[in-house]
Amino acid sequence: MAAFQGKSVLVLGGSRGIGAAIVRRFATEGAVVAFTYGASREAAEQLAAETGSTAVLTDSADRDAVIARVRESGPLDILVVNAGFALFGDALEQDPDEIDRLFRVNIHAPYHASVEAARQMPEGGRIIVIGSVNGDRMPVPGMASYALSKSALQGMARGLARDFGPRGITINIVQPGPIDTDANPADGPMKELMHSFMAIKRHGRPEEVAGMVAWLAGPEAGFVTGAMHTIDGAFGA
Ligand code: NDP
Repeated sequence: MAAFQGKSVLVLGGSRGIGAAIVRRFATEGAVVAFTYGASREAAEQLAAETGSTAVLTDSADRDAVIARVRESGPLDILVVNAGFALFGDALEQDPDEIDRLFRVNIHAPYHASVEAARQMPEGGRIIVIGSVNGDRMPVPGMASYALSKSALQGMARGLARDFGPRGITINIVQPGPIDTDANPADGPMKELMHSFMAIKRHGRPEEVAGMVAWLAGPEAGFVTGAMHTIDGAFGA
């Protein structure tokens, strides 16, 4: 299957987890894929060798580096912004510098990367950002900064959809619930609590999220923009 034959794809944060599944999906379907990584050089190099994609070191906390990476990637058919992380802990005790770093990675980078990509993107381009069901629902304490960051993406998508719509460029947010990755292992200590909120009581697989991303990036989704797409086993229902 080569649904994305020759398409130019950049995945920000592709070395592990959901991002790696997205890289594999587009590479398998014929796209020319580049992805960024931060700390996981070895995993990135292995994935690049496995998939024939290109791995580049770019810290998503560094705004100018993100903008330069997108610009130097040339005209992208598809941009996926996946890099993100959560902080857990008492809001009254958390280090404000760490909180600001989370905002840079989870909010600022998606915004600046999306705008920069749109400068060169051809008509019909696709921007997909990985948010979270926690943008809609936050049922536990200690994660307000993460919830804030993922809710912010919703406003971004609604607004940029208006800016880019006249050029046929879509922007959508994919909102996973618990997905089995290093960040949220299916056998982790929070498993029972998370599953108690869900109708389908298991972690999702990164490949399931990649499938939704691929659909949003494909020709059937040209009328879908400014929208949130939740894939969460009804965690947020
Ligand atoms: P992982 O921690 O397993 O992987 C995170 C990926 O993002 C890695 O490839 C990592 O690269 C990259 N990344 C993180 N910070 C940076 C940075 N500063 N610069 C460059 N790359 C970075 O997380 P998941 O796969 O679980 O999560 C991916 C996305 O999905 C995130 O946005 C997360 O918020 C979201 N999500 C995840 C859920 C889950 O349950 N797993 C649920 C809902 C949303 P490297 O290691 O090289 O730094």
